[in-house]
Amino acid sequence: MVIWTKCLALIREQLPPKTFRTWFEPIRPLKYKNHVLTIQVGSNYVYEYLEEHFIGILKSSLQSVIGPKAKLEYSVVVESQPKKPVAVTFPSDQERKAGVNVIDAVKGGVSGLHNPFEPVVSKIQIHSQLNPAYTLESFVEGACNQLARSAGLAIAGNPGKTAFNPLLIYGGSGLGKTHLAQAIGHKVKEDFPEKVVLYVSTNLFQTQFTEAVRKNEINDFLHFYQLIDVLILDDIHELAGKTGTQNTLFHIFNHLQQLGKQLILTCDKAPAELSGIEERLLSRFRWGLSAEIKAPDYETRREIVKYKAQKDGLQFSKEVIDDICKYADSNVRELEGAMISLLAQATFNKKDLTTDLVREILGKMVTRQPEEQLTVDRIQKVLCNYFHVTPELLHSKNRKREIVQARQLAMYFCKNHTNASLASIGKQIGNRDHATVIYACKAVSDLLDTDKSFRMQVEEIHTLLYSRK
Ligand code: ADP
Ligand code: MG
Repeated sequence: MVIWTKCLALIREQLPPKTFRTWFEPIRPLKYKNHVLTIQVGSNYVYEYLEEHFIGILKSSLQSVIGPKAKLEYSVVVESQPKKPVAVTFPSDQERKAGVNVIDAVKGGVSGLHNPFEPVVSKIQIHSQLNPAYTLESFVEGACNQLARSAGLAIAGNPGKTAFNPLLIYGGSGLGKTHLAQAIGHKVKEDFPEKVVLYVSTNLFQTQFTEAVRKNEINDFLHFYQLIDVLILDDIHELAGKTGTQNTLFHIFNHLQQLGKQLILTCDKAPAELSGIEERLLSRFRWGLSAEIKAPDYETRREIVKYKAQKDGLQFSKEVIDDICKYADSNVRELEGAMISLLAQATFNKKDLTTDLVREILGKMVTRQPEEQLTVDRIQKVLCNYFHVTPELLHSKNRKREIVQARQLAMYFCKNHTNASLASIGKQIGNRDHATVIYACKAVSDLLDTDKSFRMQVEEIHTLLYSRK
């Protein structure tokens, strides 16, 4: 179409070659009538991206070619998934050219178009990234995980077709969220070998996304994720404050759901308590089922210890099992840690596991709180208590010295004692930007250098943060 070719020529002059290739070369002109040009794009994401970033260029080019009445309409065409996916990396261009079906048209444009070509079935093999140890068989059932487990089983029997889509498994650290989510993945693979299952941590997803943006390969990124039948996204609380990734995930979400694909998400808190996540994404989470995994009750702890001991060929007396369950009572990871410490003592020191020895070892073990367990939430709570300020005041713009100090210290501790990004810390502490967090950290370190009593205060807070709750 001559009109589009002329527009493209104008657009090309105004953009870096790579940007032009990524966003404009794939566009197909569909029709032109009464000053309205309709173009076809590969996804809603591309449509929104064009509108957001290139609307000025598009408008001026169109008006130069067509005149002041020029109008642009989009037709969004989403590629269908390959039937027999068989490769590990992002699909290549040819693979992506696998068939297209029109499923949607945006902006009152064209609808009902059908691809005249038969879809080419591409051979794409995606490694599931599942840990072989995390199966349903090795997941001990208990009251604490019953709902999540049953929902998982239902999904595994009928992926994408139950009301549990997405399934959000939430609960504290070390309670078995990753294990259960992966176990569902294994079960789907077993029962439906043709389905593409992918496990990915939110951190990795985030890194891949950033890389894709940097290399201008966002389309490849989207296409890759649109090939998945069962997507397991672990630890979605890490999305807090990362708007770009959230936006992309939202599109992937919609797309997968439209195509009847299954999503399994895990999170360290209930959706209602998540801050720094856009409402439209949260509302998607609520479409399905949120199932909590709670801390294991005594009975379940016993079952887990017995199961793991037997699997590793260990013989623990009934008293030792009881002791382990009593000492390591907050999560399953802690239980496993306790068993490993005991095993090491018994093996390397050739000591019998007497009750006294067990208590000595466990006593040492569980009072040490691993550092990575600190969360932005806990830090805020401790600081609010310490300075006697309410969370509302901490989050407010109040400039009273005491409150500013509590707020800056909260940011400082979050920066140095959690993995949260500057943006996410700012977002969670009163919706500030990352520059404010940097400023706060700098202010605290300056004061630490010069003010001895401040230093002592900070040490005191440090101890409080790591003392058992
Ligand atoms: P989370 O993802 O919730 O932090 P994980 O899934 O990593 O926790 O679990 C921590 C450890 O505890 C893993 O080694 C896992 O196998 C084990 N675990 C958790 N729950 C159970 C369970 N119900 N049965 C057996 N092992 C479990
Ligand atoms: Mg986990």
